[in-house]
Amino acid sequence: MRILVTGGAGYIGATAVAMLLEAGYDVTVLDDLSTGHSDVIPTEAKFVKGSLLSNQDLDEALTGCDAVMHFAAKSLVGESVEKPDLYAEVNVGGSKALFSKMKAHGIKKIVLSSTAATYGEPKRVPISENDEPAPKNPYGATKLEIDRMVATSGFSAISLRYFNVAGALQSANGWLAERHNPETHLIPNILKATNDAPVKIFGTDWPTEDGTCIRDYIHVVDLIEAHIKALETLPEAKHEIINLGSGDGYSVRQVIAAAEKAVGHKIPAIESERRAGDPAILIADITKAKSYLNWQPNRGIDQMVLDTWNSIK
Ligand code: UDP
Repeated sequence: MRILVTGGAGYIGATAVAMLLEAGYDVTVLDDLSTGHSDVIPTEAKFVKGSLLSNQDLDEALTGCDAVMHFAAKSLVGESVEKPDLYAEVNVGGSKALFSKMKAHGIKKIVLSSTAATYGEPKRVPISENDEPAPKNPYGATKLEIDRMVATSGFSAISLRYFNVAGALQSANGWLAERHNPETHLIPNILKATNDAPVKIFGTDWPTEDGTCIRDYIHVVDLIEAHIKALETLPEAKHEIINLGSGDGYSVRQVIAAAEKAVGHKIPAIESERRAGDPAILIADITKAKSYLNWQPNRGIDQMVLDTWNSIK
C-alpha cells in the first residue's frame, strides 16, 4: 500500500515518512521545500518536489497511491495574522486542489493534520472534539475550513487535532529534529537558551498555580503512531475528528524544570510580557483517541525534552 505524505520534508511529516516505511508501507513525498529539508527524505521514498497548487505535481505525486497523509501547510500563528491571504491560498486552496485530484485518481482515504488552534479560547478544559470550534487566528481558521471541506467530501477521513507536539524520532538516517527558522516553540527555545539569550517566559501572571501558561505536550512518535492507527481504522465514507495530546498539562516553568533535569544544568530564563493570543490553559480530552484508535501516549515530558535535546545538540 502506497501512502502520499504531503509535507513529508517537515518535522512531523518526515517522522511520519520514517515510521510508515518502518511499518512496511511504500511512501511518496510531496513537498515544495519552502520550510522542509530534503536531507530528511529517505532514499526508499519517492520524492516529488512540488506544490499542492500545481495540478501537474499533484498528478505525479498521487500516481500509484492508495491513501494520503496530509501535513503540508503554513503553520505559524503570527505569520498567519500578517498574511491571511497566503494562509488561505496555501492551506485552503492547496487542500481543495488535493481533494479534487484525489477524486480524479480514485483515492478516497485520507488522514489529516489538524490543530487545537481550531478550538480557539477554550470554554472548558480538557477540550473535547464536541466543543464548538472558534479559531482566534487565520491559521486556526484555515485548518477548520479544511476539516469542514473534508467532512463533506465523501472520503474515508480522520482529522487529527494536535496539541503541542515535541520530542524527536531517531530514525535509521539520524535524528529528525524540529528545525524551524525562526523557532517559536517553547521546548527548542528552552534548549537553545544561553546566558546572552535566555529563554523568555511569556507571562507569569496567568491564572495558573505558578502563573505560567499550561499546555498539553505530545511526543511526535506517539503522534505518528496515532496517525498510522488512524490510517488503519478509517471510517467508510465518513469523517471523524480526534484530538491528540497526552491529556495532561505542564506549565512553562515545569517544562523548564524538566529540561534542566535532561541537560543537567540550569537553563537561563527571564520573565517577560504575555505573548498576544495565548490562552492560559490548553489540555486535550483524549478519550476518543484512546477508544477509537485503540491508542495511548507512551512518552512523557522528560522523554520529549531529552529527545529534543539529543536531536538538536
Ligand atoms: N512560550 C514561552 N517562551 C517561548 C515560547 C513559548 O514562554 O519562547 C510559552 C507560550 O506562551 C505558551 C507555551 O510556551 O504558553 C507553548 O508555546 P509554543 O509556542 O511552544 O506552542 P503553542 O502553545 O503556542 O502552540
